[in-house]
Amino acid sequence: MATPKAAHGVSFLRRRRGIPLFTVFGIRIIADYSWFLIVALIAVTLSIGWFPTELPGRSPLQYWLLGLITALFFFASVLVHELSHSVVAVLRGIPVRRITLFLFGGVAEITKEPTDPSTELRVAIAGPAMSAVLAAGFWISYLLVGTGGNRPGLELALMYLAWANSLLLAFNLLPGLPLDGGRIVRALLWKGSGSLRRATLIASTSGKVIAGLLAALGVLALLTKTAIIPGLWFIFIALFLSRTADTSYKHVLMREALRGISISSIMVTDVVAVPPDITLSELIDSYLLRHHYTAYPVVESGRPLGVISVGLVKRVPRATWRSTTVREAMQPVSEEIALSPDDALPEAMHKMSVSGLSKLLVIEDEELVGVVTKRDIATYLQIRSDLSR
Ligand SMILES: [Zn+2]
Repeated sequence: MATPKAAHGVSFLRRRRGIPLFTVFGIRIIADYSWFLIVALIAVTLSIGWFPTELPGRSPLQYWLLGLITALFFFASVLVHELSHSVVAVLRGIPVRRITLFLFGGVAEITKEPTDPSTELRVAIAGPAMSAVLAAGFWISYLLVGTGGNRPGLELALMYLAWANSLLLAFNLLPGLPLDGGRIVRALLWKGSGSLRRATLIASTSGKVIAGLLAALGVLALLTKTAIIPGLWFIFIALFLSRTADTSYKHVLMREALRGISISSIMVTDVVAVPPDITLSELIDSYLLRHHYTAYPVVESGRPLGVISVGLVKRVPRATWRSTTVREAMQPVSEEIALSPDDALPEAMHKMSVSGLSKLLVIEDEELVGVVTKRDIATYLQIRSDLSR
């Protein structure tokens, strides 16, 4: 049984619960609780079903070891597939914060949608290309080991991994969003027509058609009682795919709408600024507890120096709040926390997600002209959507 992985850069799947495993290339790898369930399920299926049938006469311990190791190699394959998407994204200047492994495989949390079709194409192809290399590698190893014929356990494990990676490759290349094949189709259409919205509409419709076919196959398997478990899986996967395909399109529509909104139309110009040389204790008493904002621009004679927030204060040991100045604790002005009044709304949302700050500075000619906060954006969007109803 192959577990398909799906959906990259789908920010709405963010903040799944899970257990951090390790960090590689600066990308945190997180295992969702559902992932342990599927690893266990596959290890058990292999250990008590597949290996004893294919390789009779061994001890249960041998079956369990073989099953567990094969399952772990399979999930390492899924992770390497996901990582290769992420590494290409990082090389093309798109930050990737983490990869979450869950029931249906993995989701790379790419913090920004690709800005051009050729980046989208490269990022989308990277995963299947890696799966193709893995499948070929396992097939070749299987054939090499098979010639000896005296290591059937290893031989079977290699065959399983070769098949699993081949199925993973084939499934991911189905030409509908949110699968890699759908992203490739979308990138090619986008390149041809110049319209990301139209390309996404076509690729996500195709994704829904694929989901429909999978669901039909699943229902057929259930009705004919030929393959109950795979049938249930098909239906589960189809539901997941069709929901995600839909969201991909809505996501693009929303981004297009937001792109028309400039920072100058949502920024607040009536700003409470903080001088850099007061201590954190003074900041707490005179600003944090008085004005009820959680972040403040730090300004010295009209020039913005940085941002100070409750989160940044909490990083400083409490005992030194009386002696540490705002200047020492603030996040200094950088591209990451500054906007121009002409920037568009998605730029602000992207910078907030990268910096983790809920308030950004709007700077024009080296002077602070306003601030944009997460709450203001949310309120603005809420009012717009209420009015359009
Ligand atoms: Zn992929």
